[in-house]
Formats: sequence, C-alpha cells, structure tokens
Amino acid sequence: MIVGVLALQGAFAAHQDRLTALGVEAPSVRTADQLNRLDALVIPGGESTTMSHLLRTNDLFNPIARMIDAGLPVLGTCAGMIMCAADVRAGRSDQQSFGAIDITVCRNGYGRQRASFEADLNVAGLDMPFHAVFIRAPVVERVGPDVEILARLDDVPVLVRQQTCTVTSFHPELTLDERLHEMFVDSI
Ligand code: GLN
Repeated sequence: MIVGVLALQGAFAAHQDRLTALGVEAPSVRTADQLNRLDALVIPGGESTTMSHLLRTNDLFNPIARMIDAGLPVLGTCAGMIMCAADVRAGRSDQQSFGAIDITVCRNGYGRQRASFEADLNVAGLDMPFHAVFIRAPVVERVGPDVEILARLDDVPVLVRQQTCTVTSFHPELTLDERLHEMFVDSI
C-alpha cells in the first residue's frame, strides 16, 4: 500500500509519520510523475491559497484532479479539506479546489476567538473519543445529500466522507493517534 502525501507546503511530515507508523509507505509528492504508483493521496493542512498556487505552478493541479476523478482515494485535512471541497467561501478569487466532495466550506470560519483550539470528538466507528487539534480551521457550512457525517463539533460537521474522499477540518496528524489514518487506509 502506497499513500502519497502532497508535500509542496504545510504539515505533510506528520502525516508521513502517522502512515509509516501503520506500516504504510508514504512518499512525498512534489511532481506529477510521483503520482502514478499511488494507491491514495493525502492533502495536508497548511495554507490553501498557497497550496492552490503551488499546485498550478508545479503542474500538479490537473494531474491530481484527473486522478481524483478516476477514483483515487484522497484524505484532505484542514487546508486539504478546502482543496477537496466543491465550494469555498472566503477564499482568494484565484484559488482553485478539486471539488472531490460536495460540501461548502468557509475558510478560517471559526474566527479569531477560536482560531486554534482542541476538542474531543465522538467519531462514528471509533470506541473512544479522538482528540482533535483545530488551527484556523475551515467551517463546513453545507453538506450535499451523498456526504456522510462521521463527526460533529457543536452540531457542525468536522469529519465527512463521500465515497473515496474523506476530509477533516482539524489536524488528525498532529496527535500520536493513528486511528483516523487507519480508518482511511482500511477504506482504500
Ligand atoms: N486557514 C488555512 C487555509 O485557508 C487552513 C489552516 C490549516 O490548514 N491549518 O488554508
């Protein structure tokens, strides 16, 4: 099993640590030729405007979009959730996203007061709560009819899935808890 981690920018190394702890090969992805041998892709947290720009300038946006359309499983966390969303609010006008999951997100939607916080989440399929770190996280404002909600915080979805695309508004890679990565890997 090979799960590539998009490594243009942001919190990619921690994802690689979580995946390798599970015995999964987790190479960095920086060029289009590195996409071919992947079973799945992780799009990490960071800054979605920068990531969108770097994806274009590194000729990666269209190749990844094509592979997602063809069924490549993808896990998007925080900025990665924004990159996967069908609709992005409060983005930059030139920011692009893959539209891999039918949700609307509002960038930095938790506002200044709650810019960064942690919370224990009850996640569908997990026995014990998952400790989640939110950093200038996107707020999920709408989920389409085919989107499964796997966890909520104060009634707002924070972990959602549509077929092969799973996204979190928090950073599951920043705690030493591999359960969400394991759930993703098991779904591949
Ligand atoms: N606010 C960032 C963005 O718009 C996301 C923050 C994060 O990934 N921790 O991309």
